[in-house]
Amino acid sequence: MGNRKERHILALSGGKDSAALAVYMQEKYPELPLEYVFIDSGYELPETMEYIDRIRAVLNISILPIGGASIKDRKDFKWWLNKKNNYLPSPQKRWCTDILKLRPYNEWIDKNCSGQAVHSYVGLRADEKTDRKGNLSGREFFYQHHPFIEHGLDYQNIKDLLESSGLGFPSYYKWRSRSGCYFCFYQTKREWLGLLKHHKELFWKAAAMEKTDPETGTKFTWCDDMSLEELEKNKKIILTEASLPVQGKKMAPGLITTISSLCKKNLSDPKLLIRR
Ligand code: SF4
Repeated sequence: MGNRKERHILALSGGKDSAALAVYMQEKYPELPLEYVFIDSGYELPETMEYIDRIRAVLNISILPIGGASIKDRKDFKWWLNKKNNYLPSPQKRWCTDILKLRPYNEWIDKNCSGQAVHSYVGLRADEKTDRKGNLSGREFFYQHHPFIEHGLDYQNIKDLLESSGLGFPSYYKWRSRSGCYFCFYQTKREWLGLLKHHKELFWKAAAMEKTDPETGTKFTWCDDMSLEELEKNKKIILTEASLPVQGKKMAPGLITTISSLCKKNLSDPKLLIRR
């Protein structure tokens, strides 16, 4: 790296893992001149913004917001959606991450760290799939670090870090399992209904982005098999289905007791034993 100035940057997502990484880095490497940024997609949940404020206050750090579309630059998600002929992003066509998260971060680095060596710290956990490597920038003198993977920290360690620091989990974890845009397509139907319950206006804003191609009749919906309007109409059925046990998943203790007591009853029934 020679005499090149070095920058150490931790990008917060508004989720638990990057928050726990900020706690960890402060505790383990207090001498490191870390800079904190928050890549705002412009479509974050209010709870995410509150959590960023909380991180600022609890850890006593400055967090620079980057990204989001400024009034001057209207190329926000809706602008891109229009350009992509209403083709909503999906796990197969995840074009949103590039324009809402990676590009703003890379542009900020190019503008603010020109000619410098950049160390970027990412909160991937040791128990996560390792094919997710975060921002793989093609730029020179860019070094990505995964401290949790390097030191074998898993979900329980992250939970302990957040609890011991007094930061806790973001409040949206009560009804949603991921940080990110309010319309994120990784949400389950139950989580969409959580959005409806907690932020009705955001649910309907997401619903308004769903379109039907007038020529082909193709429907662009956030969920594979129904629109958000249909989801709302069927919410009772969906919530009931979501609470039923799924094969391979843990059953409610009460149900396990019921099934096991029925099994015992059948095994002790001589007629059933004869039939076997
Ligand atoms: S949070 Fe979801 S919708 Fe937003 S950029 Fe990431 S993948 Fe796309």
